[in-house]
Amino acid sequence: MPVIACSRCGQEKDAVQKPAFYRGEVREKLLANACQECWDEWIKMQIMLINEYRLNLMDPSTDDFLNKQVLAFFKLDEGGEIASVDYVPPAE
Ligand SMILES: [Zn+2]
Repeated sequence: MPVIACSRCGQEKDAVQKPAFYRGEVREKLLANACQECWDEWIKMQIMLINEYRLNLMDPSTDDFLNKQVLAFFKLDEGGEIASVDYVPPAE
């Protein structure tokens, strides 16, 4: 199990094993920079985003959106043009 320096928590930990859903360059970045623990946090965030924005996972624009969000979450958004996600759950 490879150990990586996680770009989110800054610690050396076991890398994420299977960044499900993500492909290509984003997947490569995640495998090289994301730890499993932060990944588990991201999955919870992703579920919230999907619910909040009523995302359709069959829609290609959802891929773009989640690719940007996951890179921002792991501080891998080079150039800084992508707004980071500070998700605030709606008050109920
Ligand atoms: Zn981490």
